[in-house]
Amino acid sequence: MDLLEYQGKQYFSKYGVPVSEGGAAETVEQAVEIAERIGYPAVIKAQVLIGGRGKQGGVKIANNLEELKMHAENILKLTIYDRTGTIGYPVKVVWIERASDISEEYYASFTLDRSQKKHLGMLSAEGGVEIEVVAENNPDAISKIWIDPVVGLTDEALTAWVKAAKLNPKAEQGTIDILRKLYDVYIKGDASLAEINPLILTPEGKVHALDAKVTLDEAAAYRHPEWAEFVGLDSGDERERAAAEKDLQYVGLDGSVGIIANGAGLAMSTVDIITQVGGKAANFLDIGGGANADRMVDALTVINDDPAVKVIFINIFGGITRCDDVANGIVQAKSRVNLKAPLVVRLDGTNAELGRKILVDNASDTLIMKPDMLSAAKTAVAMAGGN
Ligand code: GDP
Ligand code: MN
Repeated sequence: MDLLEYQGKQYFSKYGVPVSEGGAAETVEQAVEIAERIGYPAVIKAQVLIGGRGKQGGVKIANNLEELKMHAENILKLTIYDRTGTIGYPVKVVWIERASDISEEYYASFTLDRSQKKHLGMLSAEGGVEIEVVAENNPDAISKIWIDPVVGLTDEALTAWVKAAKLNPKAEQGTIDILRKLYDVYIKGDASLAEINPLILTPEGKVHALDAKVTLDEAAAYRHPEWAEFVGLDSGDERERAAAEKDLQYVGLDGSVGIIANGAGLAMSTVDIITQVGGKAANFLDIGGGANADRMVDALTVINDDPAVKVIFINIFGGITRCDDVANGIVQAKSRVNLKAPLVVRLDGTNAELGRKILVDNASDTLIMKPDMLSAAKTAVAMAGGN
């Protein structure tokens, strides 16, 4: 679960990472109230779940009330686009904070390096720009540290890592202090990403987080009741928002074959096989275990709302979930949801024969049973008109 910048900053504060004083606003009036309280110059920042806001007019500095009103009004009307320009994130909230004077901009983050089975810390004197760009153009400018989770981040290793980044010597001690706390955000706060870009050095020699990017590890939600306030945050994709409300693992794609599968592995294979036979998936959707009628209704509803979907491919492998239960669920769900697209179903695994029989007994132009994945994929792609 990704947090908005201001929520990330609140989370930072909890663990002692210094951030600027500020407030979140949904209207120009609220923005004015906050700015008048904290004083000028103030920064106004679009709160959306992607970076690159600065370049798109989503970050502005106001020196007085007039400028603040103007910027707040403009930013609250903005839509910020992702890097490919396909998904737009309408700005609903702005964050206002006291503007900082910047001498230097750095980059700092902790994340997981799965291939090394270690935590990875990255620090660079070239901050303010996307780290992917630095990694591409000047990889040596990124100082890295791999942290054994059992050992943790020792003071010696932390100091060596920061020295290797060749920051302004004036920033070293402040950066060490912040990174120790950022590591707490990452470990104690159960984040899978804790990133500061830019981490700044001020003319007074203070080090301070100007931006916050935090991804919380949802597997740890059970020990963080305080995360409840973050749930339901907006993803830019309407379909993903609707799916998240129904607790479905859904990722929107740009094809016309809707996909429902149980298990992330099978869902990915399904996307692959659709591509292999010349089609394009409209989504990735894993309904997980317990593929019952309610779950099927939820999944079908989400996919049915996507106007691009021409056919829905349901690909289920029964394990603990029995195929006859799934088949009954599909038949029931079909009568409960007014589907715009036909269903192609492939069932295998526990009680597959029983399940297939139920589907055959209920077969129609809009409910087609195929015994194997390949023929089901081909049928679905053909019905979608080839793409
Ligand atoms: P992003 O572009 O979405 O990552 O948004 P950031 O929060 O990183 O802000 C983008 C850029 O705006 C920063 O790299 C800074 O150069 C600038 N900026 C943000 N806050 C301030 C501030 O308080 N003072 C000044 N002078 N510049 C700021
Ligand atoms: Mn940033």
